[in-house]
Amino acid sequence: MFSVAIDGPSGAGKSSVSKAVAKAAGFVHVDTGALYRSLAYTAIKNNVEISDISAVDKMLSNLDVALKLDNGEQKVYVNGDDVTPYLRTEDVSMAASNISKIPSVRAFLLETQRRAARENNVIMDGRDIATVVLPDADVKVFLTASAEKRAERRYKELLAKNEEVEYNKILEDVIKRDKQDTERETAPLKPSEESVIVDTTSMTFEESVRAITDLIKERI
Ligand code: C5P
Repeated sequence: MFSVAIDGPSGAGKSSVSKAVAKAAGFVHVDTGALYRSLAYTAIKNNVEISDISAVDKMLSNLDVALKLDNGEQKVYVNGDDVTPYLRTEDVSMAASNISKIPSVRAFLLETQRRAARENNVIMDGRDIATVVLPDADVKVFLTASAEKRAERRYKELLAKNEEVEYNKILEDVIKRDKQDTERETAPLKPSEESVIVDTTSMTFEESVRAITDLIKERI
């Protein structure tokens, strides 16, 4: 199997770029953020306090999280229910960043991610794919962009969905999540020694897709 690891901060375009590259290369795209989001969503829904690690562990002991990778679309199931439509809100984003700091949460999701890469040619995006989940990935990319550019992209995306948003609040959240993701003890966000850094601040979407497709072609 061939695997591509794409790590980077929120809003760098990992998900949309990975999706396009996966389609072009015939790979399966695995968005690992959705797994952390599914746990955050489940905690919020069941009033589980995320700062209470034993309450989170108790929640995990009754939980079955599954990835379905059919037809190029990824779906996340929690105890048999498709929770995919509920994962992309700002509340869930922040809660996902909080819950992902907990080592037992990361351990809980590790095998699901590795299995996906054993069974498929994958392009997997996240924060620790090259450093922890798939250290033997064939291609390792760290996709990044300035915080302002990333907030601007997220702002436009939410506006297009007719959501009421404030640019400054989004920028604040982007910076706060970056700090949390970079400074946490377990699996912090950082490029692996072998990762190629791709800065998309002044790149178009198509240029970002091409940059990664070229790296894959070099390795195949
Ligand atoms: O990528 P996305 O924004 O959907 O991820 C949501 C949160 O999940 C991130 O802020 C990060 O804290 C966490 N995450 C992680 N490891 C991954 C993917 C996501 O810690 N591999």
